[in-house]
Amino acid sequence: MPAECPFCAQPVVPHALVCSSCSRDVTIPDTLLAERDDLLRKREAARAELAQAKAELEALRRRQRLSLRRN
Ligand SMILES: [Zn+2]
Repeated sequence: MPAECPFCAQPVVPHALVCSSCSRDVTIPDTLLAERDDLLRKREAARAELAQAKAELEALRRRQRLSLRRN
């Protein structure tokens, strides 16, 4: 809960869902929080996958360099 409204910068009443000045939402809905958590998990999974792919690529390149040296 922000101390002031992100839209009009007026102080927000504690536990208020909307700003008393401009009537805009000052809380983040649980569904959006859940969506964000889900996206963060997916980002972590994608990063791990990318790191794995980079490691495999590096291993392939190393093997290729070794085989070129032998020939
Ligand atoms: Zn406001």
